[in-house]
Amino acid sequence: MKYSSFVFRALEKPAFQEFLCWMLKTENIEEQMIRDVDVKVFPLRRKSGKGLAGNCDLTRGKIRLYPKTVKFCSIFKQKFGRKTLLAYAGNRARAALIHELLHLKYAEDEEKVRALARNYFFVFTRNHFTSSSRTLCVYAMIFKAEQLKKPP
Ligand SMILES: [Zn+2]
Repeated sequence: MKYSSFVFRALEKPAFQEFLCWMLKTENIEEQMIRDVDVKVFPLRRKSGKGLAGNCDLTRGKIRLYPKTVKFCSIFKQKFGRKTLLAYAGNRARAALIHELLHLKYAEDEEKVRALARNYFFVFTRNHFTSSSRTLCVYAMIFKAEQLKKPP
């Protein structure tokens, strides 16, 4: 609950909302395409065992965002501290929302969505957290896993 309500507040921040409006305009994504954005309380696991940050029902325009597990959070907190965990949780959700919104336009083109999401998220972090090395470190954490998944 705590994780999800924190994430919800992070997504609601005017700076991020303004950024999303700009992104939707730039991409010509109609706001009416988005019917619902849900921040879930329980994590979702794929069959591979890997957690999922979000998904998008393209026909219904429904986006769902999922938290990390309690176990992940407690290990992360021990390792990097509470502030970094909060920065990670907020930015993971922001990155996931950007990603799922782009799916509304690019549908199944996962590679295109990933590349664009990465760029847009970078634009957001660069504009809003220029002096924070913590955010850049979190940025690396969020996108490192994706890089590793890419075929050589
Ligand atoms: Zn995707």
